[in-house]
Amino acid sequence: MATVELKNLRKNFGSFVALEGLNLSIEDGEFLVLLGPSGCGKSTTMRLVAGLEDPSGGDILIGGSRVNEIPARDRDLAMVFQNYALYPHMTVGENISYPLKIARVPKTERLRRAKDAAAKVEMDHLLTRRPAELSGGQRQRVALARAIVRTPRLFLMDEPLSNLDAKLRTVMRAELKHLQKELSTTTIYVTHDQVEAMTLADRIVILNNAVIQQMGTPAEIYARPANTFVAGFIGSPPMNLISGAVSGGMFTHKGGTMQVGTADGAVTLGVRPEDIALSHGDADIMGKVYSSELLGDCTLVNVRVGDSLVAAKVGADEGMEMDTPVGLKLRQERLHFFDTDSGNRRET
Ligand code: ATP
Repeated sequence: MATVELKNLRKNFGSFVALEGLNLSIEDGEFLVLLGPSGCGKSTTMRLVAGLEDPSGGDILIGGSRVNEIPARDRDLAMVFQNYALYPHMTVGENISYPLKIARVPKTERLRRAKDAAAKVEMDHLLTRRPAELSGGQRQRVALARAIVRTPRLFLMDEPLSNLDAKLRTVMRAELKHLQKELSTTTIYVTHDQVEAMTLADRIVILNNAVIQQMGTPAEIYARPANTFVAGFIGSPPMNLISGAVSGGMFTHKGGTMQVGTADGAVTLGVRPEDIALSHGDADIMGKVYSSELLGDCTLVNVRVGDSLVAAKVGADEGMEMDTPVGLKLRQERLHFFDTDSGNRRET
């Protein structure tokens, strides 16, 4: 168990800036998720913490000590990557106990600890199988067991669930979260999947273009996205972003006019699909139904407004025919306002 601090951490590949002055403190036992689109610098951050890359500038502290010059094998951390890289010629038991063999732990203790780790991920009945005889989910569990067998100070996980099918991913997500809390080992987890980030993290760090966009608990980020990038990245489907202009307390956009409590200027209004209802009286937005999808517990209606679509989550029995004219009412207390030019959240 350990804290992790990244101080002004930078990484360039030639003239390309992959990470630009990252500052981040991770608490002991925290489950921190680095979230962002492909190429934003997530894996680079992870590789720097692991010691697989050298920083171009800045410091990495683990447990309060600077580790910049400490080689990867001496940093006392365990990694689980997307490609779980099990040794094909070894059994499940041998794969799991391999880090202990490297650490010269005596054989009887190795076997006991490998069995314990396997039991934690419900693989103790398959210790004599080889990786080729396992399903993808089972191989993933072996990789996890191999990471936890040593109780390292830190877990680094880079998209560890992305090779699994959707159903198994959901199951493994819950197991991983439970296991991390049980072990209380500080964990840095990289994903581009916002649902995974929301469900797993104590705290999320959202990266884009080598820079942190926002840090906070999943609930904070969901409720108050710092800019339009975060607003459009979190949520399923994500927040609707409607550009327009505010003048004298009235917001005018392609689908209508409505009263708002924000200052004059070029404004992008954000509203989550679940904060929109169908209106049969006066509406904030007028448009035509583009598509209507029954999701089981609700219907997702996409409404064409000008040249964009606004998504609304409405009742399961409120599905509508394509091209029907429709009015939408927005929940006033749940509106978000962003400056169109900077993309930043407006405080009022
Ligand atoms: P993904 O989800 O696609 O893995 P990521 O956020 O993890 O994306 P990184 O692997 O951190 O992205 O890469 C960040 C940027 O740095 C990318 O634009 C990538 O092309 C670049 N990059 C990474 N490694 C190198 C390298 N060894 N040489 C040159 N450029 C690199």
